[in-house]
Amino acid sequence: MRLATAFMPTRKEDPVEAEVVSHKLLTRGGYIRMVTRGIYNFLPLGWRSVRKIEQIVREEMDRAGAQEVLMPGVQPAELWRESGRWDKYGPELLRFQDRKGSDFCLGPTHEEVITDMVRGELTSYKQLPVNLYQIQAKFRDEPRPRFGLMRGREFIMKDAYSFDVDEESALKSYDIMFEAYNKICERLGFKFRAVEADTGNIGGSRSHEFQVLADTGEDEIVSCPECGYTANVELASIKVEGHGRPAGVHLETIQPVDTPDVRTIEEVSEFLGKPADQFVKTLLYVVNEETIAVLVRGDHEANEIKLRAFLRDERGIEIEELRMASDVEVKEATSAPVGFAGPVNLHVPVYADLAVQEMANFVVGANAADKHFVNTNHGEDFDVTTWADLRQARGGDKCGRCGGTFQAYRGIEVGHVFYLGTKYSESMNANFQDENGQQKPLVMGCYGIGITRMLAAIIEQNHDENGIIWPMAVTPYHVTILPLQYKNDAVMAEGERLYKELSDAGLEVMLDDRNMGAGGKFKDADLVGIPVRVAIGGRSLEEGVVELKLRDGGEVEKVPVGEIVDKVIGIVQSRLG
Ligand code: ATP
Ligand code: MG
Repeated sequence: MRLATAFMPTRKEDPVEAEVVSHKLLTRGGYIRMVTRGIYNFLPLGWRSVRKIEQIVREEMDRAGAQEVLMPGVQPAELWRESGRWDKYGPELLRFQDRKGSDFCLGPTHEEVITDMVRGELTSYKQLPVNLYQIQAKFRDEPRPRFGLMRGREFIMKDAYSFDVDEESALKSYDIMFEAYNKICERLGFKFRAVEADTGNIGGSRSHEFQVLADTGEDEIVSCPECGYTANVELASIKVEGHGRPAGVHLETIQPVDTPDVRTIEEVSEFLGKPADQFVKTLLYVVNEETIAVLVRGDHEANEIKLRAFLRDERGIEIEELRMASDVEVKEATSAPVGFAGPVNLHVPVYADLAVQEMANFVVGANAADKHFVNTNHGEDFDVTTWADLRQARGGDKCGRCGGTFQAYRGIEVGHVFYLGTKYSESMNANFQDENGQQKPLVMGCYGIGITRMLAAIIEQNHDENGIIWPMAVTPYHVTILPLQYKNDAVMAEGERLYKELSDAGLEVMLDDRNMGAGGKFKDADLVGIPVRVAIGGRSLEEGVVELKLRDGGEVEKVPVGEIVDKVIGIVQSRLG
């Protein structure tokens, strides 16, 4: 590719809205352009890298026995009504009507369409298992599209769906995908973890997220160095040390105190001069129609996913709706403005996190404006309906599996594998005949990879202050050649020779034949991030050498013109593995 006639619009300035480095560098390097919030154009370089990621994913899917298909982006509402998700899926689902007034949506995922595709076709156990995948643009009307390609509204996903005769066989299909995902992440050179995850609103009972470790990741995960247990903080089970207050602690008498105009834990903590871990936060939720209170230590975060599981499994509540209480509902339940809720004389069920069990003489809201209680004690001043693990894990907590100490990481979720069971096959009547001639619903799994999110994640892990540092597997070009003096015929001719010989050898080569100064060419080369750079200067060419530099470090090396082609081929091939 010749830069003089290429479309590679590099920029000096970061886009104003960009918060993360991948977004900045992809825009400045001429890889992507925003069309509107969360929706992007892929320019020629960006598209080449996307296609390379797709190809790696494709190869590993094919190797794992999956077959590629392509389903439509536009999906009829009928299928979503059948599965029950037309009403359940929130405003992320972009809905619209055709000219006849029929309802449609833009596919955010394809369980409905694929279940419809196979029902009536996969009708015998003899045809199973089957795994089908596609690579295609998805649309989700995210409430907060941000971080460039990391959280877009339109983005490219690989989604695969497996169909099996029973759970045992379906879990085998799951394990095969799990392995394929590991392989893909390894080929892309990620530092990553496979993390136990919540199954969210998609249903199912086994799920792992593939998290690329990066400070800019939106997800928080904890990992136990002792036993290897790794989970999303929303799911990670925590081992709570003792049970109950430390022996011998003296219980003080509860006292009201004035706390004018201080509401948040930080404010009250500063006002009373007590650390946040001597506070208990009282959070009011509404489950279905009922208001409940959840207590967590002042420096802890309540966890809605654990709360949901607790209400369902321990309290036997079929959850239609679970949400934070509104300001009005808080006032109704506590007779106080928001910010002063507490468990004393609160006539709703009180579910408290196990960490609160160990506390004594703590501070709570007093259910009255501008008032708190100090020296509050559970059992003495209020009763807890049920104790449970209801908080978010964090670094330093004890591992729920082995008692080791959790380390915290931030992660970018690039992939997700789910065991679905029969959720879709049952609601959509996708049945097969088993060995005994009985009709049974297909047992399914679904497996997603964010292709374009991966592109961003690669850059989050591979860059420096000057630009992108592509791994060889996904770089848009392997080598960039910079003839540094446009007016020097020998320099330009040497550039042409290298361009031809390296291209003929099968390498993907960029030739910076633009009429511009050396400084600008070097800057762009660093920004764009091609792994191998060969610069040709007039004086060194007279000495019979060119200058080789690798983008991921090292010094400039002078290489005789007679050796450069073989040398570059060797580097590229060894890195492609
Ligand atoms: P998230 O928790 O990040 O919103 P999700 O759990 O909703 O993602 P899945 O339904 O599991 O996403 O989709 C499969 C994969 O698609 C994700 O692992 C992620 O890599 C990618 N993905 C999901 N949402 C987006 C998005 N808005 N922009 C880019 N990629 C996305
Ligand atoms: Mg997910």
